[in-house]
Amino acid sequence: MKGTICCEEKCTACMACANACPKNAIGIGVNKYGYEKVVINDDKCVDCGLCTKVCARRMQIERHSPIKCYAGQSRDAEKLKRSASGAAFQMLAEIVLETGGVCYGCAGEMINGEYRANHIRVTNVDELQSILNSKYILSHIGTTYQQIKKDLENGKLVLFGGTPCQALGLKSFLNHEYENLIIADVICHGVTSKTIFNDYLREIEKEQNIIITDYIFRDKKAGWGSNFCYSYYENGDKNKIKIKRFPKEGGSHEIHYLRGDISRENCFSCEMSNTNRVSDFT
Ligand SMILES: Cc1cc2nc3c(=O)[nH]c(=O)nc-3n(C[C@H](O)[C@H](O)[C@H](O)COP(=O)(O)OP(=O)(O)OC[C@H]3O[C@@H](n4cnc5c(N)ncnc54)[C@H](O)[C@@H]3O)c2cc1C
Ligand code: SF4
Ligand code: SF4
Ligand code: SF4
Repeated sequence: MKGTICCEEKCTACMACANACPKNAIGIGVNKYGYEKVVINDDKCVDCGLCTKVCARRMQIERHSPIKCYAGQSRDAEKLKRSASGAAFQMLAEIVLETGGVCYGCAGEMINGEYRANHIRVTNVDELQSILNSKYILSHIGTTYQQIKKDLENGKLVLFGGTPCQALGLKSFLNHEYENLIIADVICHGVTSKTIFNDYLREIEKEQNIIITDYIFRDKKAGWGSNFCYSYYENGDKNKIKIKRFPKEGGSHEIHYLRGDISRENCFSCEMSNTNRVSDFT
């Protein structure tokens, strides 16, 4: 598409367009405020129009209202600690994996000093750990929807976990109902950007003379509540790994995130902030 697919303020970065592009011409860049934005490489684009056809902000995908609402949480105290909330996603994922299916969800990791969130494919319970718990930055979808389509067409049971706008992106890309697809989305008030979050980590490192090695957005080891936590090398010494838990109100990034001050622009006009969803479970 020579030009834009949908306006930047409305684009959720769900990447349905990128997954549909036959020329691999769509990628992710950063706008002047530090938020991810969709970028089209005009040299690769052949103007076929496929990206606009699947754009999640343009497609009319059928939504449905909740049929029933249940309250529940895992009875396994260890499993409960690994998830941000009651571990419903974890329990659902275990059933899918035990029956030979695959799960897709957001994994966060520190690579070369930068915290990144990406959607990944998981095929066993050991790998499942990485896609549990909330990461409050935009999760990069990469080629996830293409991989899911392949799995579905190979007859695999697939569980996708993500934000409601990513669930919509997946449905828009597939544009077909599959009996072997389960979509679980989260209640979501917004995501912030990788750049802004990493700037925050750099500030902590500078202030405290530490090197941050990992970050957990909802650490339940010290109980329920907003216990954001990071591990770090003191004075850069790799033999001294320490853990710092924030008090319930969190550090400045968490405060601004939870208040909605640093959400992506499109989150303020989110069409999924209601009970009408495309997912099977919320
Ligand atoms: C970005 C975001 C915003 C949220 N906002 C609210 C809110 O406003 N109110 C509220 O009550 N709860 C909110 N939550 C919490 C969410 O509702 C809980 O994560 C949910 O209850 C699932 O809990 P769980 O214990 O079943 O699973 P968990 O193990 O905690 O969650 C795992 C699931 O979360 C997905 N996930 C984690 N991070 C991301 C991400 N960055 N992008 C896409 N998917 C992700 C994983 O793919 C997986 O499907 C938010 C979560 C996220 C990720
Ligand atoms: S018009 Fe076609 S080639 Fe160009 S970016 Fe869109 S899908 Fe890719
Ligand atoms: S498909 Fe998703 S990422 Fe692509 S332009 Fe539309 S909203 Fe943005
Ligand atoms: S608030 Fe809406 S647009 Fe923003 S990440 Fe959540 S589902 Fe997507």
